[in-house]
Amino acid sequence: MMNIDGESGWDRFISTIAQEVGGAPIPSVTSIADEEGKEDNQNLPYRVLASTIISLRTKDAVTLDASMRLFKTAPDMKSLAALGEETIADLIYPAGFYRVKAGQLRKIAEMLKDKGVPADREKLLELPGVGRKTANLVLGLAFGIPAICVDIHVHRISNRLGLISTRTPEESEKALEQILPSRFWIGINTLLVAFGQQVCTPVSPWCSRCPFAEKCPRIDVGRSR
Ligand code: SF4
Repeated sequence: MMNIDGESGWDRFISTIAQEVGGAPIPSVTSIADEEGKEDNQNLPYRVLASTIISLRTKDAVTLDASMRLFKTAPDMKSLAALGEETIADLIYPAGFYRVKAGQLRKIAEMLKDKGVPADREKLLELPGVGRKTANLVLGLAFGIPAICVDIHVHRISNRLGLISTRTPEESEKALEQILPSRFWIGINTLLVAFGQQVCTPVSPWCSRCPFAEKCPRIDVGRSR
């Protein structure tokens, strides 16, 4: 188990990862939140929600292009509600499951066109296609409400390092909430996604060039490089 001591220990841990992935491309949804959000704060929740749905099982570059095409035609929730499902599907193609996602986006637009995206986890979870991962990302990136978005990278890396010992992303979210200072809750996903793509990869992680190589117990790691 890797021990992280107090606030300063977490500071060192987070800055080590940030340094390691410094030159990495920012995952698509975060860059949409950063760049598009600066220009259009009012529609930021809509854009984060829509691009997060587009991003599921889809490569970052495809997510970014598909989201930009969608936002050019539908810059806000009301204009999305005016589009047909076929048009939305054409705009977000070739995102994975683009037809299913077009149906979900169409329904969400109908439900939220008058009241906007809710800043509330339970209400977000009522929307089609929205699970805890998406809800937490929207809370964090669109509203600045501390929430840990635990995707497969966050779950895998936290367990390999022995920071937590859990079987599902839902369990990981609860376990991380107990140990991670809340000021890191929003940013941890972006950092660990990049770290998981570059260093602690799903298959055969790059332990030989990992900054945590000496202390990491490498739990459940088979082959490594
Ligand atoms: S030492 Fe290996 S298993 Fe541990 S965090 Fe680094 S890359 Fe992942």
